[in-house]
Amino acid sequence: MYKKERRAVAAMGRQLLTSGLTAGTWGNISLKVAPDALLITPSGLGYDKQQAEDIVLLNGEGEAMKGKRLPSSEKALHIAIYKACPQARAVIHTHGVYSGAFAAAHMSIPALTEDLAQVIGGPVNCAAYAPAGTEELAQAAVKALGERRAVLMANHGAAVWGTTLEQAFMAAQLLEKAAHVALLAQILGGGKKLTAAQNKAMHVFYEEHYSKRQEGEE
Ligand SMILES: [Zn+2]
Repeated sequence: MYKKERRAVAAMGRQLLTSGLTAGTWGNISLKVAPDALLITPSGLGYDKQQAEDIVLLNGEGEAMKGKRLPSSEKALHIAIYKACPQARAVIHTHGVYSGAFAAAHMSIPALTEDLAQVIGGPVNCAAYAPAGTEELAQAAVKALGERRAVLMANHGAAVWGTTLEQAFMAAQLLEKAAHVALLAQILGGGKKLTAAQNKAMHVFYEEHYSKRQEGEE
């Protein structure tokens, strides 16, 4: 079941590993395949070893359907994001260096670049600390996520969502770039933030038009 989608999740895992947005078996990927079903990467298996059959199918309650692998230990985070964001179809949790620096400092990533505003919607908040893999972390992350498509988790990493796997991956790349740019701008005396109105206008344009062009629908 969902063979094509399982292959797409496994392929995205290899892309995530080569992108440098995570290391080893850290981070995880999910894809919503039905209103009450999602695919998620397995726990503790390297991305380079994951095959379509290793991707775990979860039902609406987050229980793993038949399969030989255990689901990612961060499944609560993924489920909470889908519940809070009905438009979300894919969630990627990353352990990147630059976004990780902001998460380590418990600091938000400011909106200094238009691409961040377009795809993610503005500055990215850092959730209060909670241990990895807990429901407490999932709830803290969703609270800090708000209307954005990305959130930082204190002393841990980041999570992003998109309407497709490719869009979620692009959001993860833009988040990492935004964190890198913000750190470099600090050396130059500090970046100049986009205003809330500018963030909103760019995000609305992206959602209503540009993302559809990228997917060939407009
Ligand atoms: Zn993690």
